[in-house]
Amino acid sequence: MQEKAIVRNYFNTVGFERWRRIYGNEEVNFVQKDIRLGHARTVETVLQWLGDPSGLRICDAGCGVGSLSLPLAARGAQVFASDISEQMVNEARRRQQMELGSTDNPQFQVLDLEELTGEYDVVVCLDVMIHYPEADALRMLRHLTGLAKSRLLFSFAPKTPWLTLLKKVGEFFPGPSKTTRAYQHREATLVSHLTEWGWKVQQRQTIQSRFYFAWLLDLVR
Ligand code: SAH
Repeated sequence: MQEKAIVRNYFNTVGFERWRRIYGNEEVNFVQKDIRLGHARTVETVLQWLGDPSGLRICDAGCGVGSLSLPLAARGAQVFASDISEQMVNEARRRQQMELGSTDNPQFQVLDLEELTGEYDVVVCLDVMIHYPEADALRMLRHLTGLAKSRLLFSFAPKTPWLTLLKKVGEFFPGPSKTTRAYQHREATLVSHLTEWGWKVQQRQTIQSRFYFAWLLDLVR
C-alpha cells in the first residue's frame, strides 16, 4: 500500500533523524522541544492510566524508539513492541541495552502493525494514526482491537482549526522532513466505529501544546 511505503521510508530516513532527536534528550529547536514535551505528557498519561503493569502482556504497536515500551518493561510488564521502521527498532534496541542492560523484555521486532498476531492484555498505539488517512486508520484500529483481550489505548491528532492551519503552513513537519503528511481524524467517527466493534471509551485526555496534539483514548470491551 502506497501510504505505508511512504511512512516506512520516512521513518527510515529523514523522519528517523528528526524523531530520534525529538524522542531523546539532546539539543533541539523550540518547535521540536515543544513536541518532545507534549509527547512526554502522552507517555506519562498512559503510564498513569495503566498503574502497576507488572505481569501484563502489553503490545506497543508502532513503538518508535521505545519511549513507552522501555518504562513499561522497567515496571514489570511483558512488552511486545514493534515498528514498521527498522531504524526506529534498532534505536529502540540500543536504548534498551543502555537503560535496561541485557534483557529480551521488551521484545522488539520490525513489523507492520497490521501483521501483528497474538493476544495481549493491553494494546497501545501512540502517535501512529496521524500518518494515515481515515480509511487506513480505521482498518488498523480494527486489526488492533482483534489483538486486545480487554483494553486498547491509542492517540490521534484531532480535526481542530489550529492544527489544520499549522499543517497548511507546514509547521507541523518543519524542514526537509515534510515528506509525510499529518492526517487529522474526527473523534466521533473513530469512536462510532469502535462502539460498533464492541468497545467503549472509559477515559479520554487531550494533550495539546503549541505544536503537539494528541487526543488519547482508553477503551475497554
Ligand atoms: N509510538 C511511539 C512512536 C511514535 S512515532 C511513541 O509514541 O513514542 C510513529 C511511529 O509509528 C514511527 O516509529 C513509525 O515507524 C511507526 N509506524 C508507522 N506506521 C506503522 C505501521 N503501519 N506499523 C507499525 N509501525 C508504524
